[in-house]
Amino acid sequence: MNLDRFARLALCHAPTPLEFMPRLTRHLGGPQLWIKRDDCTGTALGGNKTRKLEFLLGDALQQGADHVVTVGALQSNHVRQTVAAAARAGLGCTAILEHRHPDPDADYLRNGNVLLDVLLGAEIIYRPGGTDMFAALREVGDELRARGRKPYLIPSGGSNPVGSLGYVVAAQEILQQASDKSMDLHSIVVASGSAGTQAGLLVGMAQLQSAIPIQGFAVSQTANLQQARVLALAQATADFIGLGKDIANDAVKVNADYLGAGYSIPTPAMVEAVQLVARMEGLLLDPVYTGKAMAGLIDWIGQGRYRSTDNVMFLHTGGQAGLFGFCDTLSARPSTALPA
Ligand SMILES: *Cc1c(COP(=O)(O)O)cnc(C)c1O
Repeated sequence: MNLDRFARLALCHAPTPLEFMPRLTRHLGGPQLWIKRDDCTGTALGGNKTRKLEFLLGDALQQGADHVVTVGALQSNHVRQTVAAAARAGLGCTAILEHRHPDPDADYLRNGNVLLDVLLGAEIIYRPGGTDMFAALREVGDELRARGRKPYLIPSGGSNPVGSLGYVVAAQEILQQASDKSMDLHSIVVASGSAGTQAGLLVGMAQLQSAIPIQGFAVSQTANLQQARVLALAQATADFIGLGKDIANDAVKVNADYLGAGYSIPTPAMVEAVQLVARMEGLLLDPVYTGKAMAGLIDWIGQGRYRSTDNVMFLHTGGQAGLFGFCDTLSARPSTALPA
């Protein structure tokens, strides 16, 4: 199905590379581990939100907006990519940041994504943890309208049917790359937060009649809640593009065993996964999303859930700027069980 009818602003370096991870594969004893480098989408350090923002900002410009407003946690990668994309589009940008981490490193409050938001020119509004951020988004939108501006409101993570189109398109890109390598993909592993990435991939695969399972590892809430969230957004996205079929409940695979105490709260397995991938492949994961999803994948490999010949693709959704907000966590623990 052609998505050309949807307005789109070119922001993304695509196709992003699909790379084999030979040393990690050998160290873990198979399966064949591939990494899809959506941390390399461009736009101020890149990440998965850039794919969504191509359609969100396309829509904003089509509607004649002159300002973008969005919300996120203090170290939100989505907010940083949105501020950068707004700058490229010549739009103003207000970022509403929720202070929801209970016990942050000192750097969490001003380094990493927060520093980049400031550099990229966002107007920043802080809100305490537990704020209704959707209400805050609407309030700021109303204030801007009262001042004669034309704001375009982007929800948390850019996860609505418009934003999810970015990953409907990405599914096509992934299948093309696998086909170019004559590779059968066993499954795709992805961190699942505001759900647009997993939902978009599901719709994209359904549209292309592909049965490749997409395994989400939840990073912010229980498996049941996240499963319902992904399913609802996938169905809304399917309806939005006129897919003409339903997304099956059992196609939405979510596990939350590696979430730990909650969103952005570090776990020892996350720290080990970030260190292991760095030392095996020279690749940087992030502490909030990909580190926890990789911890899940590593544990599942240890449980013998894959055959050594399976080709498993880990979607690297970016987020490395967040490393600089977790300096104490990531540098304090001595690593164990790692090869010299
Ligand atoms: C936002 C984000 C995710 C989760 O994607 P969703 O579409 O919100 O589920 C994963 N990884 C990183 C680095 C992110 O910033």
